[in-house]
Amino acid sequence: MGTPELRICHLYPELMNIYGDRGNVIALAQRCRWRGYGVRVTPVSLGDGLDPTEHDLYFIGGGQDREQILVCEDLAREKGDALRQAVEDGAALLSICGGFQLLGDHFLTYTGEDLPGISLFDAKTAGGDARFIGNVAVESGLEGVEGVLVGFENHSGRTYLGSGCRPLGGVIRGYGNNGEDGQEGCVYRNAIGTYLHGSLLPKNPRLADWLILRALRRRHDLDELPRLDDSLEEAAHRAALELTLREKRRRGVSP
Ligand code: GLN
Repeated sequence: MGTPELRICHLYPELMNIYGDRGNVIALAQRCRWRGYGVRVTPVSLGDGLDPTEHDLYFIGGGQDREQILVCEDLAREKGDALRQAVEDGAALLSICGGFQLLGDHFLTYTGEDLPGISLFDAKTAGGDARFIGNVAVESGLEGVEGVLVGFENHSGRTYLGSGCRPLGGVIRGYGNNGEDGQEGCVYRNAIGTYLHGSLLPKNPRLADWLILRALRRRHDLDELPRLDDSLEEAAHRAALELTLREKRRRGVSP
């Protein structure tokens, strides 16, 4: 079977990329290279075709409502079907904020546009009058990624999950999906949606490896990934968590 190669599809890189979201792709690729694995990153954007068998891991970042309108129209063509098929077939996927919203059933923006999603996630989003902004700490509910995830959120959309998917975790500090039910993000098969920008993966390396392992297992017989020296990543995680918890203590109440 040879040296593993991770084939990443970076969706709408020029449109859906805020708060350093592209850093997630850099982290995924670098963690593979450090292990001696091959990596291929393919940008796929408006009007491009999408072959559901050609990639192991899909990434879509966050974007403003304006960009989401363009992307939503493009996803509604054959890309949405291809993405759903790839995830049903075991591909890994990470979607952040605006990208996450478009993979649910629909996103009703605060200004009244109803953007249909591709229903990969059983989730609905509606924009609210106040934005949810700040650092976030989440108790991970993902099997194989124990502990706390850290990130930064900035969204007006409130997302509510249906019974067809489960949350990524429970909010320790921050607003999460909707500021009401304590849930953050969404998991369906090997696909994750989350509001955490940051970039997320450089300072949550176990989540990065969860995605890489599941993506590679599509075509390679791997039990686990070789461990890396994550002392810098863990120091970044600790610093972000300490800052976030300090803010929570200062405010006294959640979020
Ligand atoms: N436009 C969306 C919202 O405000 C997503 C923003 C983002 O991706 N940060 O809810």
